[in-house]
Amino acid sequence: MELDVPSMAMMVSLATFAVGLALIAFGYQRQFAGLVPWGWGLFCFALAAPLLALRDVLPSGLIVPAGGVLLHLSIALMLLGLYQHFGRRPDPWVIGVPLPLAALIFAFLHDYPARLVWVSLLLAVQLVSMLVLLYAHRRQAPGRGLWLVMTGAGIALAVALWRVGAVEFGWVELTSYTAPGILQALSHATLMFSLLLVTIGFMGMLHEGLEARYVQLASTDVLTGVHNRRALMDAFYQELAGAVRRRAPLCLLMIDIDHFKQVNDRHGHQAGDAVLRALAQAMKVRLRAQDLLGRYGGEEFLALLPDTDVAGGLRVADSLRTRVEGLLVHHEGSDIRVTISIGVHAWVPGMPEDSIGLVRDVDAALYAAKHNGRNRVEAFVAAAGMAAGEEGGAPDRN
Ligand code: GH3
Ligand code: MG
Ligand code: MG
Repeated sequence: MELDVPSMAMMVSLATFAVGLALIAFGYQRQFAGLVPWGWGLFCFALAAPLLALRDVLPSGLIVPAGGVLLHLSIALMLLGLYQHFGRRPDPWVIGVPLPLAALIFAFLHDYPARLVWVSLLLAVQLVSMLVLLYAHRRQAPGRGLWLVMTGAGIALAVALWRVGAVEFGWVELTSYTAPGILQALSHATLMFSLLLVTIGFMGMLHEGLEARYVQLASTDVLTGVHNRRALMDAFYQELAGAVRRRAPLCLLMIDIDHFKQVNDRHGHQAGDAVLRALAQAMKVRLRAQDLLGRYGGEEFLALLPDTDVAGGLRVADSLRTRVEGLLVHHEGSDIRVTISIGVHAWVPGMPEDSIGLVRDVDAALYAAKHNGRNRVEAFVAAAGMAAGEEGGAPDRN
């Protein structure tokens, strides 16, 4: 089988042109940071491939240097897209320096094997920059897209280094870009394959990044930054099922601010919001990584403590209570202090898997804490819970 390099280059040019066009068309959306330079990078590649391949047909004096610079410009633009995607200021050395170097190589080195070595080394440097940038930001990309881009860049790097080796150690005789020969054609094909792979990987990165952001938005309470009620209840059902499966206790803390209406009345709603924010953060830092804190209602929070029984829950609740007691919230010249009341209840092995009943009972424990004087922690006791609910002068709770 004889692979014809110019025909291959034309096909790839058309494909990258179409993909580049699509990326630029979608790139106007602000959440797709980096898509527009990446699309322009593909555009440059779509121009470079036929320019380099048609050297035998077109006057090569200007065509070949132009094609070469466009090839390196396309990688530089993809790097720019990655910088934008990660919200980093692009490093002008990494982006810019390879371009005049490519122009010099193509202008002054006319011997194909020598030029191939230098061009491949320059390409290798650009690809290593890309790999380093991706690896440094791997925690910022939540899914597999980043690893796909790294795989594509790694394959391209291997081809570039193979070309250097092929010339330097005489593995294959590479006499011209368009020279017939299965290895030369395969090296072109592999480069094109890696170009598509990095592009699909980058689109995957954008998609995964957006999805993670939407999930985060849908599950976070905008005011306090802790889980919102929906995420909290989803987590509760999952934790409860896990606790039942593992036969391990799961503790619930229902937390309500004492006399919070007075804070709003005295200092204003904005001050009330500042208190809610400060309080949520203060409680969050006190909890373990596996615990979960969410805003259950207006000024009510629910904490889930896996592998914790009532005795452990009471200890945590009391440390939250003292922490909040000592918290001073500054807001527009006012110093505000609040206290919290906490109801504690736990699912322990042997109890039915009754999520509604657990929430009802932890709420009854909170009710008892309010009833018994506020700034207190109370564990759920079946009879006491009922008694607090039956009392005439029980405090208002929303
Ligand atoms: P208690 O000790 O019985 O809990 O007294 P309380 O005044 O806190 O009573 P309650 O829990 O019924 O009051 C809830 C108040 O919380 C009512 C509402 O104005 C306030 N609140 C609820 N959500 C928000 C919010 O997002 N921001 C602010 N600033 N206030 C809120
Ligand atoms: Mg309250
Ligand atoms: Mg309340």
